[in-house]
Amino acid sequence: MRLLVVEDEEDLRNGLEQALREEGYAVDVAPDGKEGLYKAEAWDYDAIVLDVMLPEMDGWEILSRLRKKKKTPVLMLTARDGVRDRIKGLDLGADDYLVKPFNLAELIARVRALIRRAAGTPNPVVTIDSINIDMAARTISVDDALVALTAREYALIEYLASRRGKVVSRTELYDHLFSEEDESYSNLLDVHVCNVRKKIGKDFIQTRRGHGYVID
Ligand code: CA
Repeated sequence: MRLLVVEDEEDLRNGLEQALREEGYAVDVAPDGKEGLYKAEAWDYDAIVLDVMLPEMDGWEILSRLRKKKKTPVLMLTARDGVRDRIKGLDLGADDYLVKPFNLAELIARVRALIRRAAGTPNPVVTIDSINIDMAARTISVDDALVALTAREYALIEYLASRRGKVVSRTELYDHLFSEEDESYSNLLDVHVCNVRKKIGKDFIQTRRGHGYVID
C-alpha cells in the first residue's frame, strides 16, 4: 500500500514517514500544499494523510480540488479542536480526521481502517483455505502457525488479498507497493512473489501471463 503524507512540520513529517514505512507502507511525502496536490493527483495512493495548515495551499483547498477528480481516502490532521473545522473537513470529503497532537498508533490504526474500507474489506481478517490474513495485526498464519514475512512481502499479500479474485497488473502493484524513493529494479516484484510462494505455497499467488497476479 502506498501513502502520501502532506505535512509542513519537518519533524512530524519525518516521524510519520518512518513509522509508516516500518508498518510496511510505501510512503511519499510533500512539505507544502502545492506539491501535496500535485502528487495526490498524479498517483493513485491508497490513502493520504493531510495536514490542514500548510504553506502554498491549505489542506481544505487540496481536498476540495482532489475530490473533483479522485476518491482517495483522506485522513485530515487538524491543529484545532473546533467542531466547525472538523465538520468543514468532513463536508469537503475527508474520510476521517485526527486532532493534533495525536497518538501515532491511533493514526496508523485509522489509516489501516481507511484502506480496508476503500478496498471493500471492512473485516480485518481474510481467510483463504487454511491461510489467515489479519490486516489489523498485519500477520499471516497458515494452519494457525505464523509465517515470518518482510513488511514488503506482507504488503504484497494484503494488496492482492483485499482484491481477491481480481487480476492485478504489475504496473498497479509497482505503483502501490513502492514509493518514489524505492529503487525500481524491474525484477523487484518477482523476487517478492517468489519469496511469498516459498513461504506460503507455490499456488498462493498465481501468475496470469501478460496480465498480472491474482490470489483466488
Ligand atoms: Ca501544518
